[in-house]
Amino acid sequence: MTRFNSKGMWRIPSVKKKKKGDQTIDEDMVIKQCYCPNGHDLINNKVNVRGYKGILLKVKKGKDEGLMALSPICGDKSKYTIDIDLSEGEIIELLCPDCNVPLPVYAPCDCGADMITLFCDKHGNFCNCIGICNRVGCSHSEIKKGSDLFNIYRRRGEIRGTEGYL
Ligand SMILES: [Zn+2]
Ligand SMILES: [Zn+2]
Repeated sequence: MTRFNSKGMWRIPSVKKKKKGDQTIDEDMVIKQCYCPNGHDLINNKVNVRGYKGILLKVKKGKDEGLMALSPICGDKSKYTIDIDLSEGEIIELLCPDCNVPLPVYAPCDCGADMITLFCDKHGNFCNCIGICNRVGCSHSEIKKGSDLFNIYRRRGEIRGTEGYL
């Protein structure tokens, strides 16, 4: 395979183009389903981020509570809040908007806050999940795929017993 197409454009393998958009989004990076520990769907039809249905969570900060819409695209930090103002560096609680259950902690984040788990199936399976840091503005405060989470924590030695056995 050549590096350039007939028009001399750079060929970028494995990035699928979205119909007309100016930016390309790899479909593999878009979260299509995620759930609270009780199996409630956190993907919400009313949230639209760059043409995809977004993730809607309840957020709590002290006595204040509101909603937060997140981009379902891994690595995209876009988020919108409703009824609550958040500022950079604050640690917030993330809950299911349906049953109010706090989303479980996956592991501590580098920044001292927590990496919060959103499950990709209805069974609360930590092997099939995505994560997000609960500190506003943290470099991990965007959706991370399970494989990325695993790599972050394996590097830090917090997931033990896998090295050399895979
Ligand atoms: Zn729920
Ligand atoms: Zn963090």
